[in-house]
This record gives sequence, structure tokens and C-alpha cells, in this order.
Amino acid sequence: MAPVSAGLGSGLRIGVLSLQGDVREHAQVLTDLGAQVSLVRRPRELEAVDGLVLPGGESSVIDKLSRVAGLQGPLCALIAAGLPVLGTCAGLILLADRLADGISGQKTFGGMDVTVRRNAFGGQVESFEADLDVPFLGPRAVRAAFIRAPVIEQVGPAATVLASLPDGRVVAAEQGNLLGTAFHPETTGETRFHQRLLNAVREQAMR
Ligand code: GLN
Repeated sequence: MAPVSAGLGSGLRIGVLSLQGDVREHAQVLTDLGAQVSLVRRPRELEAVDGLVLPGGESSVIDKLSRVAGLQGPLCALIAAGLPVLGTCAGLILLADRLADGISGQKTFGGMDVTVRRNAFGGQVESFEADLDVPFLGPRAVRAAFIRAPVIEQVGPAATVLASLPDGRVVAAEQGNLLGTAFHPETTGETRFHQRLLNAVREQAMR
């Protein structure tokens, strides 16, 4: 994959939804890749970005806070309009069209034709790291941290599987400009998913 050598291109900006979760880790990876990063807490800040990261954290909390902040409607609309988005863990949950076991009233932003089950591997003590083969990223394995991670239980025809565990459970998928991982690439020095987001943002801007 082509590196983003001189930043993203003039004026292009990646937002990190900063309501809850591991915002700082994502901002660091993006900055290290040469992107201009801004933290998004309000609708006006969302309007100023060309791509977005939905961080890991607690999806039900991010869902609630996004409604309080007036971000949910604008976010759903932008995702539907083709905004490039990377969601990790809770972020993947928020991108799913269908949620298998959300808390009562929990909603997602949607956009990806997948069904996601929260906490599919158990609680915090069942967290683990694994080396994953992700062929579309090249031969080097992805070191993936699963922390109260979800699993992609069903993949609809509009979405594509990107990575599975050795037992076949799907843990990363893509649909157009949307990319979701059940694990946290941002905590293990893995930058290729963020790089893919930056490439999508650049391509979108050139259209
Ligand atoms: N279990 C969390 C949720 O439901 C996700 C955990 C994570 O993002 N590490 O949102």
C-alpha cells in the first residue's frame, strides 16, 4: 500500500470522535502517519473533517453521548453520504447496521451491512492478543488486541470480510469507505488500518 509521505494533502483533516474511549491512541497513530487530526465533540467540529475514527471504548456510552451532543443525526447522514470512517471495537459496533445484544435502547450510527455481537469473548479478564493473517494488508501478520471485543456474527452482501480468527469468527470487515475491526490496532503499533483510512480520504478528495 502506498505510504502517505507528505501528510494527507493540504487542508485534509481526520477527526476522532472524542466522547469517550481511547481517543489519544488513535490521534497519535494518525499524527505519526502525517495526518492533521482534530477531536470531534460537536456537530460543527464534525463538519470540518474529511474522515473520521470511531474509537474503542463503550459503545452504549458513546451512543448516548452522541445523542446528547446532537451528533447522532449528522453522523448517520455523513456516513450514509460516504464519509470515510474507521471504527475499532466499540467503533465497529457503532458502524453496524444490526446489533445482536445492545443494552436497552442502544442504537448504532449504522452504515455497514453486518450484525455485531458485543462482548462476544467475555469480559475484561478474557481479553487477549493474537496475530492475525489479513491478506489485503500484505504478508506481515496483524498484532491485534481484543478487549471486551465484539464479533461480526453475520456479514450481509454489501460488506466484505477482511479478517477472521483461526476458528472462522469474523473480526474485520469493510464496505465502501467504512472499515471496522473488532480489535484495537491502535494499541499494538499496527498502523495499516489507519493508513487505509487516509488513502480513502485522499481518494475521496480527488473525486
Ligand atoms: N464491549 C465494548 C462495547 O460494547 C467494546 C469494548 C472496546 O471497545 N474495547 O462497546
